[in-house]
Amino acid sequence: MKHLTPSAVVLDFNGVLGLQPTDAMWANLTATAGWPADQTDYLKAAFWNARDPYDAGAITDREFWTTALGAEPTPRHLDELRAADIAMWTRTDDRVLDVLHRVREAGLPLVLLSNAPHPLADALDDTVWRRNLFNEAVYSARLGLCKPDPAAYQQALAATGTAPERVLFVDDRLDNCATARELGMTALHFTGDATELATALSV
Ligand SMILES: [Mg+2]
Repeated sequence: MKHLTPSAVVLDFNGVLGLQPTDAMWANLTATAGWPADQTDYLKAAFWNARDPYDAGAITDREFWTTALGAEPTPRHLDELRAADIAMWTRTDDRVLDVLHRVREAGLPLVLLSNAPHPLADALDDTVWRRNLFNEAVYSARLGLCKPDPAAYQQALAATGTAPERVLFVDDRLDNCATARELGMTALHFTGDATELATALSV
C-alpha cells in the first residue's frame, strides 16, 4: 500500500460490500433446482462451470440455467431460479457500508465494478445503498467482459474521473487486484476486515 490518501475508490461487490452466500442459501438453490439435498456440491460446481459467459452477458438466463442444470427449465422454474440466485448475492456487510458512508461524506467518488449477470446488476442498481453511495456502477454483463480484463477497469476508472495513481481498488480476489496494480492503481486485497478498509481510506 502506498501511503497516500486516495482520491477515488473502485470497489468490488461480492466478498467486499456483498456477503458470501450461506450454506443454507446454496441448499435452497439446490432445492429450487429440484436436485437432491446431498447434491449441493455438484450444483455449486455446475453453477460455477457455467457462470463466466453469464457474468459476461454472453448467454441468457435460460441458457445459463440449462447449462448448469443439464435440462431446460420451464418459464416458471426459471423465474424461481433467478430469484434464488439474486437473493444469494444481494446481502451487504453493515461494517463495510458504514465505512463507505464515511468515504462518501469525505467527498470521494465511489464506483462499483462487479462481475454480475444482467438480473443481478439490475437488482443491485435498485438498492438504496447503490443510489446513495455510488457515483456509478459498472457491471460485467453490461460491458460484455469480466474482471480481470483490463478493459473493465478502464470503464470504472473513467467513471471516477481520477488518475489511476489516485484510485484505491478493493477486491477479494488476488487476480483482480493484480490487474488493478498493473494499471497503476493501488489495490487492497479485502479479506473481510472493514477496519483495514477504513484505514486505507483515512476515514
Ligand atoms: Mg468479489
